[in-house]
Amino acid sequence: MNKPTLSIIVPVYHEEQNIPLLHSRLLTAMKLISDDFEIIWVNDGSSDNSLFLIKELAAADKRNKYISFTRNFGHQMALMAGLEACSGKAAVMIDCDLQDPPELIPELWEQYEKGFKVVYARRRQRKGENIVRKFAIRLFYRLLHRTTRIRIPVDTGDFRLIDRKVIDALKSMPEQHKYLRGQIAWLGFSQIAVSYNRDGRFAGKSKYGWIRLFRLAMDGFTGFSNLPLKLASLGGFLVSLVAFIIILYALYSKFIMGNVISGWTSLIISTMFIGGIQLISIGIIGEYISRINSDVRKRPLYMVEEANLDL
Ligand code: UDP
Ligand code: MG
Repeated sequence: MNKPTLSIIVPVYHEEQNIPLLHSRLLTAMKLISDDFEIIWVNDGSSDNSLFLIKELAAADKRNKYISFTRNFGHQMALMAGLEACSGKAAVMIDCDLQDPPELIPELWEQYEKGFKVVYARRRQRKGENIVRKFAIRLFYRLLHRTTRIRIPVDTGDFRLIDRKVIDALKSMPEQHKYLRGQIAWLGFSQIAVSYNRDGRFAGKSKYGWIRLFRLAMDGFTGFSNLPLKLASLGGFLVSLVAFIIILYALYSKFIMGNVISGWTSLIISTMFIGGIQLISIGIIGEYISRINSDVRKRPLYMVEEANLDL
């Protein structure tokens, strides 16, 4: 089998309204690059018509490949499945909801031909999302950027073009909690950004609600920074220091001054305070341990129900 020039990886979760338009826009964009490409549609357990549409595309044009999961495994796993199955010299990961404009792919390609191994698309602005969400996302990127030595580019999602070398390196990374944009930054390689304006979704709702977004953020933090752990122990030291001073004061006032205070207020405040700090610290440790746990279990990352390519 000869290898296509470019593999386009599209994770799909309830995107029946977006698939036809994305497909035609991809075809148009690829006219500027090459005929020799494959589109890998990864159906992440959609229960709408997505899989049917994808199969129709595959029947009409052999360049459409598909992988269909047994259930919903999540965006990062869908991307991973695409990366593992693709055979192109390079791959583009693009969302199915047209928030990532396919028209940008030729620009990404241009930079790739100049020799960059990773060309990522950086969002200049994002439309169609509410202010609180945008603020939280901005804050997350900045915090992560500050807390880790790995230079994870801010304001970039997974929309990017990566070389075969990067694909193979990613495949060899064993973590179960994927945070691909962080992993790609960790790998290094020559990289460059191309800026674009991120549109709102063409149709449908975002599948990243607050909880999923938070989970992804925690994967980013735990995978690439130990700062939360350090903060927990630093907090422990500070609280102990304060506690030590209060102990001295308590002993002093009992034995030297001879007065025992009725201090219910101070008692309740300090108990609550220390209790809170302890719970937070245990929680932080728990986040790391749960990830060690799943890395030790080494379950497969996803299960494939059907596919029209060799896996
Ligand atoms: N997606 C997926 N599995 C999921 C959630 C999302 O494959 O569990 C896909 C989705 O179909 C889309 C991409 O991942 O192609 C990005 O999802 P979404 O648009 O919901 O995220 P947002 O753009 O809001 O961050
Ligand atoms: Mg989206």
